[in-house]
Amino acid sequence: MGKTEEHFAIGIDLGGSHVAVAAVDQQGKIVEHESLDITDHALDSVVEVIVKITKRVLASVKEPVAGIGIGSPGNIDASTGSIRYSPNFQWHDVPLGERLRERLKLPIFIANDARCATLGEYTYGIGRDTSDFVLLTLGTGIGGGIISGGQLHLGAGMGAGEVGHHQIRPSDGFVCGCGKIGCFEAQAAGTGLIRHAKALEPSFPKSLLLQGKPDQLGSKAIRRAAETGDGHALAAWKNYTRDLALGIANVVAFLNPQIIALGGGVSSAGAFLLDTLIPQVCALTTMAPAGSTRLEIATLGNDAGMIGAATMAFQGGLVTQKANA
Ligand SMILES: [Zn+2]
Repeated sequence: MGKTEEHFAIGIDLGGSHVAVAAVDQQGKIVEHESLDITDHALDSVVEVIVKITKRVLASVKEPVAGIGIGSPGNIDASTGSIRYSPNFQWHDVPLGERLRERLKLPIFIANDARCATLGEYTYGIGRDTSDFVLLTLGTGIGGGIISGGQLHLGAGMGAGEVGHHQIRPSDGFVCGCGKIGCFEAQAAGTGLIRHAKALEPSFPKSLLLQGKPDQLGSKAIRRAAETGDGHALAAWKNYTRDLALGIANVVAFLNPQIIALGGGVSSAGAFLLDTLIPQVCALTTMAPAGSTRLEIATLGNDAGMIGAATMAFQGGLVTQKANA
């Protein structure tokens, strides 16, 4: 049971271009959901959008709510809800939590979106029967979160879990958004598959896969082409999964969690992804007992962030005990 007896909490996914708000019950089910676009990144405008849509969702839930949890990219002081740095909004030290508390008169908890998604999958999704769990979300970047011994690991500066920025190919890798070469994220995020395909173009002069327009082709199209046996796509998929396996094996070496769950667009490849990855991860895992870390596909999909943010509100912050699942 969570800290409160209220049946609902509000979970908010605050992205760069939209805000999605859900009322979530104590079983982790979304009972109401609305979203709005964000067009102006000024703090006042973003606060207005959040307040407007949250009030609408609150009005549709008749019973009192435990509080409001918000997940957003960047470095966030989860103890106060202050945004230290937001890459989407280019905010530095913005007291978002304080502003929303004044307006919404409810407890407000804010944390990094990937940490929220991890909490969601751990509490209600694929990680619910574990105590040591890692989520890797393979999208435009690699978001991550670590549950160790039943606790969401935040680190000294609340920057723990940035698994995407450990370097796996510092000498011959792609340039990462963070400025380093060959970060796990640059090599193995969903967009990494496009980079691998582009890098292999000279070896496949007759390939029609990219047609000179790699930026317009999604990673899903490359993966589907690989599934149908396209030579160029298969070679890209091979290099991509090689790098993904390398990073995952490093996570196993550091944490040996019961489950590493893969979310984000690439994870929709399901068995095609796992069947390629698992033997490679096993081959690179030298010290952890064989089979002690399972690789799985995350189950909450795009809802993980909202559900996890609501879980944070049920728990009264990023605390250790699970909500009543
Ligand atoms: Zn990086």
